[in-house]
Amino acid sequence: MRASPFVVGIGALRKAPGTRRAERREGVIPGLRVSGSEVPEGGEVVVDVVLELVPAGAIVRGTVEAPWAGECRRCLGEARGRARTEVWEVFEEQHDPEQTYPLHGDQLDLEPMARDAVLLELPLAPLCKVGCRGLCPTCGADRNVGDCDCEQTVGDPRWAALDALREN
Ligand SMILES: [Zn+2]
Ligand SMILES: [Zn+2]
Repeated sequence: MRASPFVVGIGALRKAPGTRRAERREGVIPGLRVSGSEVPEGGEVVVDVVLELVPAGAIVRGTVEAPWAGECRRCLGEARGRARTEVWEVFEEQHDPEQTYPLHGDQLDLEPMARDAVLLELPLAPLCKVGCRGLCPTCGADRNVGDCDCEQTVGDPRWAALDALREN
């Protein structure tokens, strides 16, 4: 099995307590998907953190970033972006699954933390761009491309007056 790019050896750090070490690791983490978006195939998760050893384990803080792709919630076109989030987590031998991540001897695996961070940050209802105009609910035309005829009709006050008459 190929060694995970997210496993950091901390043996040297243990021998020099109180020191910090910056680590930048990148790699593919499969299955990063929520209902509205996902990390596309081959998209690499970037973990950029500082490790600090403490008596109970290690503190890891920094950022996790990954590309995402999904379907725009308004126009159903392709939406893309980068999810970026800050992390500040504790890794310990006697870990509490609700609060901390496990540490196995001199091996600290950043992948479970990176997975959780990306899953929380992936957009559930993405937009292709700020201000996407979406599809016309009547004819389905993409309003980003141009106005359709029905839009003008809806906006015409004479039609609104006729509609009001019909409703009476
Ligand atoms: Zn859109
Ligand atoms: Zn229309």
